[in-house]
Amino acid sequence: MIEHINLLKEQGLPVPPKNPDPKIIIKEAVHLNERRKKMSTTGEKPGKGTYTCTNCGQIVVLDNDTDTLPPCPNCSGTEYTP
Ligand SMILES: [Zn+2]
Repeated sequence: MIEHINLLKEQGLPVPPKNPDPKIIIKEAVHLNERRKKMSTTGEKPGKGTYTCTNCGQIVVLDNDTDTLPPCPNCSGTEYTP
């Protein structure tokens, strides 16, 4: 690992900061991925399916994989969960 950092320094590349507890970083990364997978936003084309407005619970159905998620017809919200 030390050799690797020296190699980066020799080549003038940025050395990544030391990570005191890698487990926390990994946990957060998983959390972020889950959130990204679950949420869809107005303007996205998340594919065919039923989407629930996270703000008011209004259900929006997309019949087509090429359909774009509209703003919520009830509250103009822009975030949905599948
Ligand atoms: Zn809504």
